[in-house]
Amino acid sequence: MKILVLNCGSSSIKYQMIETNTQEALAKGQVERIGMSSAVLTHEPKGKEKIRIVGEILDHSIAMEYVIAVLLSPNHGVITDRKEIEAVGHRVVHGGETFSGSVLITDEVMKALKDNIELAPLHNPPNLKGITAAKEHLPNVPQCGVFDTAFHASMPPHAFLYGIPYKLYKRYKIRRYGFHGTSHRFVSERAAKLLNKSLDELKIITAHLGNGGSMAAVKNGKSVDTTMGFTPLEGLLMGTRSGDLDPSIVTYVMGKEELSISEVNTMLNKHSGLVGISGESSDMREIEQAVEDGDKKATYAFDVFTYRIKKYVGSYAAAMGGLDALVFTGGIGENSVKVREAVCKEMEFLGIKLDPNSNEKPNGEAILTTNDSKVKVLRIPTNEELVIAMDTEKIVTNHK
Ligand code: ADP
Repeated sequence: MKILVLNCGSSSIKYQMIETNTQEALAKGQVERIGMSSAVLTHEPKGKEKIRIVGEILDHSIAMEYVIAVLLSPNHGVITDRKEIEAVGHRVVHGGETFSGSVLITDEVMKALKDNIELAPLHNPPNLKGITAAKEHLPNVPQCGVFDTAFHASMPPHAFLYGIPYKLYKRYKIRRYGFHGTSHRFVSERAAKLLNKSLDELKIITAHLGNGGSMAAVKNGKSVDTTMGFTPLEGLLMGTRSGDLDPSIVTYVMGKEELSISEVNTMLNKHSGLVGISGESSDMREIEQAVEDGDKKATYAFDVFTYRIKKYVGSYAAAMGGLDALVFTGGIGENSVKVREAVCKEMEFLGIKLDPNSNEKPNGEAILTTNDSKVKVLRIPTNEELVIAMDTEKIVTNHK
């Protein structure tokens, strides 16, 4: 089945056309700077030349029109008729407590998504715009929603409740939700395959480390805890986000620096994390280079980043009562030899023995520990788009 997978942000649409029979991406691309006169569409069809188009794309509906046109284009396209698109799968950030799995998007689902806007004011509105645009241009094609939060719906109350008055949870749904669920689910399933074991007998920690980063404790195939919380700000140190911090800092800094709610939000989400500590960059490659050059603040940033991951490995091993595998994924998790090395250093007591040679080999799925390592460390490239396509196929087939 050919499925168009969409990930819509406030000024961008990322897309992939996936053939589920072969699990291959026939084309991938993105429209950036939607709403501006110099919007850019980059399109990479498999086996054909990549193209880049610059022009005025004022909204998501026009962007969708361009995406479909380029998919149909005689020279760069991968389909000859829009009827070949059998379904559309959308990445949706926040499913709140309503969605614990992927769904066919109906009017009722649209309403529930609108009800969840308050929980994800930055993400859910563009997701909704993308769904509306796709419906407009592909009116009879089924659309499915795959939620970032869904995989973590299995977290027990002791993992998702905050230590604040319970009535705030009831009144405003303030609890931990967790994100990157599609990635944590995918890599934990792949890990079981790679280890030739059944997922329901494994205790796995998954570390998705990209610009945003989160870890999950996956026990018997279910997420029992994760580092991101009510929003994607909690947990690990990230490129520009602070991760865990004492909440009193927020009110203290607001007073000292006379910051508004929105300013303090920007500080914690955009000017903290790696860039906040190093004062240089949110990009791990640049941080690593600066560490090599002897930059003190970049070294602090790198150390806080890896130390926090290490702490969560320990705490999740305790939470699950053991550990079989630690999986690294995301741009940093998949590519940074140094981050994996720092996280796994002096972890023999927990049964982790990283093999330096395997750790240094680039690319693809691999076991990075020695043969006698009780806990296996794995590198698994994530593929959220494939999960979205496969979920969409399943839902559409079941509804036929
Ligand atoms: P996003 O969360 O936006 O999808 P990615 O998963 O692509 O981001 O991850 C981006 C991060 O991966 C950046 O910090 C980048 O520096 C880092 N990264 C990519 N390649 C390497 C590498 N070879 N070594 C270290 N870090 C890397």
